[in-house]
Amino acid sequence: MISEHASPLAALGGVDAGGQNVHVAALSAALARVGHEVTVYTRRDRADLPDQLETADGYRVVHVPAGPGRPVPKDRLLPYMGDFGACLHARWRADPPDVAHAHFWMSGLATGLAARELGVPVVQTFHALGTVKRRHQGAADPSPPDRIRLERLIAARAAQVVATCTDEVFELTRMGVPRTRISVVPCGVDLRLFTPDGPVAPRGPHRRRLLAVGRLVRRKGFDIAVRALAGLPDTELVIVGGTAQEAAEADRLRRVAADLGVDDRVRLLGQVPRPRMPSLLRSADAVLCTPWYEPFGIVPLEAMACRRPVVATAVGGMVDTIVDGVTGRLVSALDPQAVADAVEPLLTDGTLRNAWGAAGSARVQTRYSWDRIADSTVAAYRRAVPADRLPVAR
Ligand code: UDP
Repeated sequence: MISEHASPLAALGGVDAGGQNVHVAALSAALARVGHEVTVYTRRDRADLPDQLETADGYRVVHVPAGPGRPVPKDRLLPYMGDFGACLHARWRADPPDVAHAHFWMSGLATGLAARELGVPVVQTFHALGTVKRRHQGAADPSPPDRIRLERLIAARAAQVVATCTDEVFELTRMGVPRTRISVVPCGVDLRLFTPDGPVAPRGPHRRRLLAVGRLVRRKGFDIAVRALAGLPDTELVIVGGTAQEAAEADRLRRVAADLGVDDRVRLLGQVPRPRMPSLLRSADAVLCTPWYEPFGIVPLEAMACRRPVVATAVGGMVDTIVDGVTGRLVSALDPQAVADAVEPLLTDGTLRNAWGAAGSARVQTRYSWDRIADSTVAAYRRAVPADRLPVAR
């Protein structure tokens, strides 16, 4: 696994630490559980990190010295990908992996540099695509200008591209990737941590609670949830996520809440360690995911695993994960009234809440365990490896 900015060991909920970190950590652990030897290469972003370590989950993490030994925003890492690739090449020359799985486009670049000459098959998961980001964020998109062109190149050279949802298949097809080289494998959810029963975080003075979780970046659309709250009396909205670096977005959300007169019902908790997340999810009547766009969205799966109904915008992975009218509701993006209309029956009808919660829980149990995701990922690896290199079944 190559995951240049997203270390499986990082704390989540900060600017550049979210779903990809969870994905790489959980997939690596699930592959290790069934006997694969897994090494994750990630950038050394602190001087005191060891060169490599074995995790308790049975995979190895190698900290690659590429660029400064301190955190650097992911959009400024491109200049260091040459060094990253050279380091991979040096290690793989002696002992090449059967498959290299690159996460995010910049990892794809470094991996391509190392893998091409050595003939190592590359599987690419983009996690997010430059074309989509540019479409939604326009001039505010901080990605390097070459991102879209380079993503096309990476996709063209990869043996398999793993799309995390069907929406991404359309995007990849538009980029010229043949459908035969695309596998769809969603992200999973940790079903041992996210369970319906267990501790429940204490509630505030209001009768109902809504929860929204994620990095405090604008495109996550937390302001839509705040605006929806204005039409939902006696209900509090708890927003989880965000570090000191995201204080500007937190201030903006507080201003929106104050302008609408709901500031006494909106609570921003900041970054919360993962083990506390299930108790918070369980404390909510419904979970809101209202981004402008979302490459996949692990939070809805975590909410469903805790048997909570989810109201989400019908974008990206959520179109696949949420079944409208069965496990939650899908609404159009940027429409606070639609969110309020979808949430309202859930706040007043406990039977509906329980029924949708139970359906969500059943759905993630059957489809989104990391063991199942690891299995499907291995199937993509098999498609990437030339037939004469596959082990012969006995
Ligand atoms: N998360 C967390 N603490 C926080 C905020 C988020 O542990 O304070 C976790 C959250 O539970 C989820 C991940 O970070 O597992 C976010 O993944 P998602 O795919 O929803 O969004 P991304 O950050 O990748 O855009």
